[in-house]
Amino acid sequence: MKHTKRITSHGSVSIPIALRRDLGIQERDAMDLEVDPQGRIILQPHVPRCCFCGEEEPTASVSGRRICRDCCRKALLILERGET
Ligand SMILES: [Zn+2]
Repeated sequence: MKHTKRITSHGSVSIPIALRRDLGIQERDAMDLEVDPQGRIILQPHVPRCCFCGEEEPTASVSGRRICRDCCRKALLILERGET
């Protein structure tokens, strides 16, 4: 289904409530916005990712940043070896 919406003076575009209900998107949910190589804008529910490798569903949070188990292990190895 195609929806045509106008951008507000604040740069916002609303998502029709029926579509939000169908997709389970709720008020104040975080959304990811990206542009694909063809210039299309892709808007989808935010998926937490590791700030180092991009892995979905990171397991820990350090100073507000998400990190996956593998990157935690790599960081620990670096610390144990005394590398910088
Ligand atoms: Zn990672």
